[in-house]
Amino acid sequence: MAAKKILVVEDEPDIRKLVHYNLAQERFQVVEAEDGEEALKMLQREKPQLVILDLMLPGMSGLELCRSLRARPETARLPILMLTAKAGEADRVVGLEMGADDYLTKPFSPRELVARVKAILRRSEASFAAAGAEVYEKGPLKINFSTYEIFVRGKAVRLTLKEFELLRFLVQNPGRVLSRDQLLDRVWGGEVFVDSRTVDVHIRRLRKAIEKNDRKPEWVLTVRGVGYKFDEKALEK
Ligand code: CA
Repeated sequence: MAAKKILVVEDEPDIRKLVHYNLAQERFQVVEAEDGEEALKMLQREKPQLVILDLMLPGMSGLELCRSLRARPETARLPILMLTAKAGEADRVVGLEMGADDYLTKPFSPRELVARVKAILRRSEASFAAAGAEVYEKGPLKINFSTYEIFVRGKAVRLTLKEFELLRFLVQNPGRVLSRDQLLDRVWGGEVFVDSRTVDVHIRRLRKAIEKNDRKPEWVLTVRGVGYKFDEKALEK
């Protein structure tokens, strides 16, 4: 398995080097950025699996960067560990509310940092459940589960987050008949104002986005009276 890539966003060179060194010791691949602007470029280019983000940065603050990452679909779920010199409870809460996954106060021990990074990565992997691979590629369909990119016959396709989650669950269960209730549970779990018609509406949109002819779907099939099924074999045709 390829080494996990981590982006360290920190303006203080000493801390950046310290973090870099300790992560590299644990066989992580590390890339660095000095400020928010550079971080955004690195994110696009390097596609890291986790970001270590200092709160106090010149220019765009760590919080602003965190908020903007959460607002973009491609980085909405990217794990973020925030670093700060401030030990105040208020800062901790703000950081977590802005969408950071965890929080570490300076000075921190490198061992603690590495332990937190591993814990966050474990959690984020678990949330991808049985996903296993980060990329699904079969015939004309290619999905990158970590960047949320989808290509159908080489063309980029845009889906909403729910449509994407729906597709993910279908693709992860090829050939299995999935009931509307199962899909509701998995994709909308916990949300109150949805019913099984919501599933049908989203399936229709998903088919429009990916099927050659959404009136005669070949990949996302209807199983009358039950639900839906992803026909993986049809991708090989
Ligand atoms: Ca700083």
